[in-house]
Amino acid sequence: MPRYRFRDVRRIGPVQVGTFTDRHGREAHATACTAPGCDWSAEYLSAAAAELAAQSHRCNAR
Ligand SMILES: [Zn+2]
Repeated sequence: MPRYRFRDVRRIGPVQVGTFTDRHGREAHATACTAPGCDWSAEYLSAAAAELAAQSHRCNAR
């Protein structure tokens, strides 16, 4: 079972940004890079922060 239930997933370049409700009932935003070999991911409490991080992400994949 997934830990979180994403209710909005959008893509910025190779990075997906998903909105979910965390265990405290707050809206939270997770970013995850889908590029092969890049396992970057992070969580943010603001959509703007998540989208900024997604836009400025540079893959370390080789
Ligand atoms: Zn990446």
